[in-house]
Amino acid sequence: MKWHEMGQGELLKITKTSMNEGLTEKEAEKRRGKYGVNELSEGERTSALALFFSQFKDFMVLVLLAATLISGFLGEYIDAIAIIAIIFVNGILGFFQERRAERSLEALKELSAPQVTVLRDGRWIKVASKELVPGDVVRFMSGDRIGADLRLLDTKSLEIEESALTGESLPVSKHSEAIQADEVSLGDLENMAFTGTLVTRGSGSGVVIGTGMNTAMGKIADMLESAGKTVTPLQRKLEELGKILIVAALFLTILVVGTGVFQGHDLYNMFLAGVSLAVAAIPEGLPAIVTVALSLGVQRMIKQKSIVRKLPAVETLGCASIICSDKTGTMTQNKMTVTHVWSEGEIWNVTGVGYNPEGSFTMNGRDIQVKNHKSLQQVLLFGALCNSSSITQEAGEFRLDGDPTEGALLIAAKKAGFTDRYLDGHFKIIEEFSFDSSRKMMSVIVEDTNGKRFVITKGAPDVLMKRSVHTLKQGKREPFTKDRIKETGSVLEKLASQALRTIAVAFKPLKNGENPTIEKAESNLTFVGLLGMIDPPRPEVKQAIKECREAGIKTVMITGDHVMTATAIAKDLSLLPRHGKVIDGQQLNELSQEELTNIVEDVYVFARVSPEHKLKIVNAYQENGHIVAMTGDGVNDAPAIKQADIGISMGITGTDVAKEASSLILVDDNFATIKSAIKEGRNIYENIRKFIRYLLASNVGEILVMLFAMLLALPLPLVPIQILWVNLVTDGLPAMALGMDQPEGDVMRRKPRHPQEGVFARGLGWKVVSRGFLIGIATLAAFMFIYHRNPEALAYAQTVAFATLVLAQLIHVFDCRSERSIFDRNPFENIYLLGAVLSSILLMLVVIYYPPLQPIFHTVPILMTDWLLIIGMSAIPTFLLAGSLLTRKK
Ligand code: ATP
Repeated sequence: MKWHEMGQGELLKITKTSMNEGLTEKEAEKRRGKYGVNELSEGERTSALALFFSQFKDFMVLVLLAATLISGFLGEYIDAIAIIAIIFVNGILGFFQERRAERSLEALKELSAPQVTVLRDGRWIKVASKELVPGDVVRFMSGDRIGADLRLLDTKSLEIEESALTGESLPVSKHSEAIQADEVSLGDLENMAFTGTLVTRGSGSGVVIGTGMNTAMGKIADMLESAGKTVTPLQRKLEELGKILIVAALFLTILVVGTGVFQGHDLYNMFLAGVSLAVAAIPEGLPAIVTVALSLGVQRMIKQKSIVRKLPAVETLGCASIICSDKTGTMTQNKMTVTHVWSEGEIWNVTGVGYNPEGSFTMNGRDIQVKNHKSLQQVLLFGALCNSSSITQEAGEFRLDGDPTEGALLIAAKKAGFTDRYLDGHFKIIEEFSFDSSRKMMSVIVEDTNGKRFVITKGAPDVLMKRSVHTLKQGKREPFTKDRIKETGSVLEKLASQALRTIAVAFKPLKNGENPTIEKAESNLTFVGLLGMIDPPRPEVKQAIKECREAGIKTVMITGDHVMTATAIAKDLSLLPRHGKVIDGQQLNELSQEELTNIVEDVYVFARVSPEHKLKIVNAYQENGHIVAMTGDGVNDAPAIKQADIGISMGITGTDVAKEASSLILVDDNFATIKSAIKEGRNIYENIRKFIRYLLASNVGEILVMLFAMLLALPLPLVPIQILWVNLVTDGLPAMALGMDQPEGDVMRRKPRHPQEGVFARGLGWKVVSRGFLIGIATLAAFMFIYHRNPEALAYAQTVAFATLVLAQLIHVFDCRSERSIFDRNPFENIYLLGAVLSSILLMLVVIYYPPLQPIFHTVPILMTDWLLIIGMSAIPTFLLAGSLLTRKK
């Protein structure tokens, strides 16, 4: 018998599972051993060996290897072995860097992998979808991606979009009845749900019948495109720049070699020196170091609770000029508590906090007995019945499972004595039309113990008022007249202006056995009452909004809540300036895209909006040239999240659809985390600028010292192995450490970066050339001074030049930490940098003073007195310009 033909009993029997208990963890483990993990097998990954060899495939490195081998054959064993050793060590370092970057990006993918809700040992828990096994009972709701192939057990208005599988983009309605047909196509299997498809409406549960490659998706997995490596805009720019730099470095190297030969240098020596120079000066590793810096930054961001899904977002974050943020849960705590209930002209207050169902009701400051207030009871009861959340108690703590708005209603009802037992014993839910942010309401069809049916609807009060034709007076229905509507409206405004989130409840009696459609159910209602609930702002958000403002970033609140509630909270958070405008969904509908674009700069709050409006809002800001970050959590938010420059989804409340559309996930749903991510994004970009500046200036210095020496008919100031050493030890380690530098104090007081900004923008090009030039000149000066003192001792002069070059770079690295001046920063702040610099100095001293290494590096011990010259010369390039800048500032 096929899965779709089975009834529930057979299904549970064959899969050896239970609807109330699910599988046990032990059984799940056993089945995982048997069926494997629930993953589609991926294509081949690059093996470690291939990655290692790829470090040596660079053309100039190959030329150097060949040249070295030749020199080896010619008897220069020591040189040859030393050079090969250096190339090898360089390769190993490159290998580990790339591996680390790759690993951390992979770990990232795991972090943002979808989770599923599964019943194990009688409890609903969340696990990664790869842990599912056949027989697991899972449940899902609108916005979820189905984690395995399922035979459905139960459905509530369930619709699933299966285009990934069938190509059909319209969602299919699903049910859980057996289908008796031999030949059915995938698209007709309405009682099954398949891996990778999307729940667009309703909710349901099912039993896993296939996992991993043994699913409908697994059968076509070969056809799935594998996502390639993402390259960020900066990486692309650097790759292009790299090509120009290679040509420039090669040209200069040829110039050095040509001049050298012309000045009478030995061709063979010049060739080896030239190739070494080319290897050292060509920044072929730059894109790789950028990847490492990005991945390190991304790891720091994880610690600060944001997960980057798309690497380019790290760069875009630094350009963000507008953050459009949801209010509920992102700016506020999403811990709702009902504080006010209004019905039939009377208002009650409710005491108690959080999900603890203890509290009392008061009226005009005096405690009351709920049983004496029928209309209060009715509002509370309806709020609890039209509700899909539940409260459980674990180790004394009350836990909410479901939507906090509904949780608050449930707790308010419990405070009035409506226990779960009472509700379950007296009412049966026949049908549920779940809440969505576009309709702004939820309804259930309920049957009481006498078989009487009625609809209960709860939702945004203004929406429900429009759908109500009656209201209650002393328990009797009467027309919802203009006066009554006005009265209700003014109570609503009073509640909303106190920053309370408002919900209305309404009902409609049905005929026996009647089961209306959603449209019918939610019309001609009888308005019953209002509830007001507090949702306090998150304490850190006000400060975060202020910091964003200082950073040139405007925060805009987007909410489904009432205009007055939104305004009150926006004022609380100092988000809404005096001249700031508040616009609601209705006005948004009436404005054309162009009109909105014209006024949007003055708008700070969008209230009573539907998710569909978000796209219009993003477009408006983008048309004005802004780089927009936009948050969202639901299915309907996905288009706007995708359209935004930085789409942000919620880690806790976000649906899979929203997460997949986003480039950043907030683990804690917190607005303040967006600010931290932007700060980190800016810092990562600045750090990349820092090491680009350091590496390129160093390379310019290395080339120029050789070029000038050749032009002045001097001997080689550095021998090949010394050049390679500088490239490996002095350039590599400090550059990596700059990638981990702390942000400058004013990163969040600068304007957002222009997205089209080039690599050399903001004076970076000038800094590279001027510092590089001075490093070259200072090194050459030290060399010439010593060489002219004693032309016999060339190796000594070369050792001095080597030490000057190394030190000049190691001093310059501290200058690179600041956009303004070396004096603006505490040099002891970055311990990685200190470590890199100290170990580079130590290694240089070892190479100079440790006798066994001297013949290899062609070094001679330097006299103490000459260190004064070396230190003086190497400090000049950095401090000369830093000093001149300082005087200019004054
Ligand atoms: P945001 O996160 O954008 O601030 P929000 O939570 O304010 O969103 P929605 O969730 O769309 O916005 O809610 C809009 C309105 O719908 C609320 O003000 C409330 O009146 C009503 N509402 C919210 N949740 C429910 C629910 N579960 N059932 C019925 N009505 C609800």
